Amino acid sequence: MVKEPENEPEVTLELDYDRLDYATNREMENDEGEKTGFAKVASYDMENFMYVIKCPYCEHTFKGEGELGQRPWWIECPECGRSSNIYRIKDKAEKKVKNRGPDVPDDADVDV
Ligand SMILES: [Zn+2]
Repeated sequence: MVKEPENEPEVTLELDYDRLDYATNREMENDEGEKTGFAKVASYDMENFMYVIKCPYCEHTFKGEGELGQRPWWIECPECGRSSNIYRIKDKAEKKVKNRGPDVPDDADVDV
C-alpha cells in the first residue's frame, strides 16, 4: 500500500506507484528563498518523465511530461515564463527518514 500525501495538490499525476522507477518531491524556492512551490517528478523508465510543478514565482500549478534529457532540467512555467531548475534529483523515491534523537549513550566519555 502506498500512503497518499495529506495535502493533495489540485493538479495531480495519476501514477502506478508499483511501476515507478523514479519519483521525487521537492520544494522550490522563489527569489526570496521562500518555499512557495514544489516539483514532483516521476518516471517508469528513466526516459519519459511526468511532472507536476508549482511555480515558486507565480504559484501557478501545471503538469506535463516528456523526455527531460540531461540534468540539470529546466521546466518553464507557462504562466509567468520563468524556468525552474529541477536539479540533483535522487535516483530513487525518497524514503522517509525516522526522526531519531541523538544516538549518544549517556555515559559517553570521549576525548575530542
Ligand atoms: Zn510561474
